[in-house]
Amino acid sequence: MDLYPELWGLNVNDNDHLVICGCDTVELADEYGTPLYIVNEERLRENYDRISKAFESRYSNVDVYYSYKTNCVPGVLKVLHESGVKAEVISGYELWTALKLGVSPDSIIFNGPNKKDEELITAIKHGIKLINADSLSEIERISQIAGELRTKANVGIRICPNIVPKGMNPGTATGSKKSHFGVDLETGEALEAYEIAASAKNINLLGMHCHIGSGVKDAESYVKASEKLLKLASEVKDKLHIDIQYLDLGGGYGTPCHQDMSSLQFLSYLIFNKMPSTPNPQNCPTIDHFAQRIIETIQTCCKKYGLSEPNLILEPGRYLTGDTQVLLLRVGGIKEKKGIGKYVLTDGGMFSTSLMVWVEYHKIFIANRMSAEDYEKYNIFGRVCTTADWLYKGIKLPKLELNDLLAVMDTGAYFIATSSNFSYPRPPILMVKDGSKHIIREGESYDDLIQKDR
Ligand code: PLP
Repeated sequence: MDLYPELWGLNVNDNDHLVICGCDTVELADEYGTPLYIVNEERLRENYDRISKAFESRYSNVDVYYSYKTNCVPGVLKVLHESGVKAEVISGYELWTALKLGVSPDSIIFNGPNKKDEELITAIKHGIKLINADSLSEIERISQIAGELRTKANVGIRICPNIVPKGMNPGTATGSKKSHFGVDLETGEALEAYEIAASAKNINLLGMHCHIGSGVKDAESYVKASEKLLKLASEVKDKLHIDIQYLDLGGGYGTPCHQDMSSLQFLSYLIFNKMPSTPNPQNCPTIDHFAQRIIETIQTCCKKYGLSEPNLILEPGRYLTGDTQVLLLRVGGIKEKKGIGKYVLTDGGMFSTSLMVWVEYHKIFIANRMSAEDYEKYNIFGRVCTTADWLYKGIKLPKLELNDLLAVMDTGAYFIATSSNFSYPRPPILMVKDGSKHIIREGESYDDLIQKDR
């Protein structure tokens, strides 16, 4: 199945160029240079509207928190917060960013394994909405720090529900029993965690959290997670007489044109240059479907166990920003190795992308010749002088020419966050909306790279 620009809300102009929010990408590349990240502000707002309507139309007590680590770019975060999104952070830096952007502490959730004391002190002093403890010892540490601050911390507990969404690898799925996140539901550790937290003097025990994976295209896994968590909530109520007020189901909602590779696909890609097939957007449930199945389950379980309906917390990352960003790269060289293949050298690479291009499918458009055909197979590389700096192996693209502009799609999740300074400064980020544009992050300079060196 071929993927076309309208799937991302983009179009093509009379010059056969890719257009984002009324801006011609070829003109943007000429003006700002490449590599260049372009953020589609209109799509950001639409994504939030879609997910919030899907859940709010079925359940009044729901809040959407953006997973900061997905794309912690203040210009992007500001647009999301303006639209009504709250903040889910996993580090002191992200917590600091949220506070600096003016997010109210009661709209911040702090997750993540092994939080540092100084991070917990900041979170507790500000009285943020929820700190999701990741382990038994972290519960005790939170209580001790809150005690030293003569206050109480608002606490939830991250549960490992032992769920592997369809198509995911049990070794990497974050809700699998093999994962290092949270306390284990099946061994009784989770209930023990609630007992410890309930008897801790300086804890307001409020929440229950899980996060089952990223790029999930299987609504039934959320159903199972909700059922397991609410059953635990009923045990907590029966044994400890505590009502869980916040049910935090994490993020993970898949997007239509993005797909993780399975372990087998990745191995065959790595060894035989065999690109996995293009994802079929129809295989991704709509957010309405996710919402319908999750809300039905919550309402059914609450009735069954006699629980009051909790505040439902969503922590989408990829769903909000993944398909809102495009990375433009320029082709600077094409080589043919007889009997081996065609190699394309771009001006991107590890300093502008991330290892995500290795393990996820990402569509490429030729932004300056959108109707080009005559497909050939290519191996595409960046500018870092290492064999590891490849972007694609064995990808079929219309016959490429020097100076072609490649638009890598779905780069709004985990790309900028995991890009590096491997030999080059990182590229600028441009935001576009309604035919206008503004830089939200300058490209790094050489000076920026050595600023901290002494
Ligand atoms: N919440 C937690 C705890 C996470 O670890 C993550 C990402 O791994 C997210 C939310 C966001 O996930 P996604 O970008 O798949 O929605």
